Amino acid sequence: MQNLLDLDAHALSAYLTAMGEKPFRGRQLMRWIYQDGESDFAAMTDIAAALRGKLAQNACITAPEVMREELSDDGTRKWLLNVGTGNAVEAVYIPEENRGTLCISTQAGCALDCSFCSTGKQGFNRNLSVAEIIGQLWWANHQLGRNAEGLWPISNVVMMGMGEPLLNFDNTVSALRLMLDDHAYGLSRRRVTVSTSGIVPAMDRLREECPVALAVSLHAPNDKLRDELVPINRKYPLKELLAACRRYLERAPRDFITFEYVMLEGVNDSVQQARELVNLVRDVPCKFNLIPFNPFPQTHYRRSRPEAIQQFRDVLMQAGIVTTTRKTRGDDIAAACGQLAGQVQDKTRRTLNRSVGVV
Ligand code: SAH
Ligand code: SF4
Repeated sequence: MQNLLDLDAHALSAYLTAMGEKPFRGRQLMRWIYQDGESDFAAMTDIAAALRGKLAQNACITAPEVMREELSDDGTRKWLLNVGTGNAVEAVYIPEENRGTLCISTQAGCALDCSFCSTGKQGFNRNLSVAEIIGQLWWANHQLGRNAEGLWPISNVVMMGMGEPLLNFDNTVSALRLMLDDHAYGLSRRRVTVSTSGIVPAMDRLREECPVALAVSLHAPNDKLRDELVPINRKYPLKELLAACRRYLERAPRDFITFEYVMLEGVNDSVQQARELVNLVRDVPCKFNLIPFNPFPQTHYRRSRPEAIQQFRDVLMQAGIVTTTRKTRGDDIAAACGQLAGQVQDKTRRTLNRSVGVV
């Protein structure tokens, strides 16, 4: 069975051509799948009955199965999705006044082991397929239903869930293309953000192949501390990372990079470190997003005090850098940054370890 959610426009027309169909059928199919949210070929009335029959026999439109849905007091929704073989990932919907943002995952687990990240502590399971990535958006729109204007509620997508998107490059880019494609979701490049811990060669590839808004997880003002917090820094240190940011901006849909900076009490949140940071990024047009640390079981870090975050922000603002502090959303359902799938994923690993032990 070919899951059509696995195919971007190019792959879908190749699939149809191989079936002896005209490539424009792909555009028709995409409109049914993404714009109408349809998964039943029989309902696709402007497609010839013969093709519908062939598709029903050979293809399907299947998003990952939802194991659990949770709703926060602040309207944030979290879906736990079954991606098979004992793995689960999460997608989080964050409604705001004039937009709806979906935070999606790109890998089950993550290999990069940032010291403050719950996903990293769980280790790496596997890359998600295109269907599993775009399926999060397909499912969430479907589940939330159209808004009063008849539009899908999700206007923005951020790849800030579980995993490092640029280490699942091809599938991430195919999913991005579906988000941007006018026959699918037609989102503007400015409303789709990839967040990376700084995989320098992949940032260059993204710039060439599918430039979208970019967020870079900085978290430290110098290599010594960043090596400790974000171990991939040992491979791609700050000088190279910042040079890659400047190159990215040559083709980016926005004229700034968003730097994410998790606020860890007594680790990276002093006024002096804020000054060092200003100096570090002086050649990169950027905005900062300060993320108060979200605790999870078995962490020794603590969230910076609000006054420390405010002071840190003041230093950046005084240097002319637009800086926002991320509101903590959905923390009553462990849906905040870095908290995703903690409990279930842990269980999953124990199960896997046990079965490995039996073998
Ligand atoms: N792997 C990518 C994207 C997923 S993480 C990346 O690292 O950029 C999305 C954001 O959440 C990153 O900036 C990450 O550093 C941050 N984050 C991870 N754990 C966190 C935690 N416990 N509290 C607050 N932010 C966290
Ligand atoms: Fe992976 Fe991002 Fe977590 Fe680091 S912060 S371990 S790169 S998901």
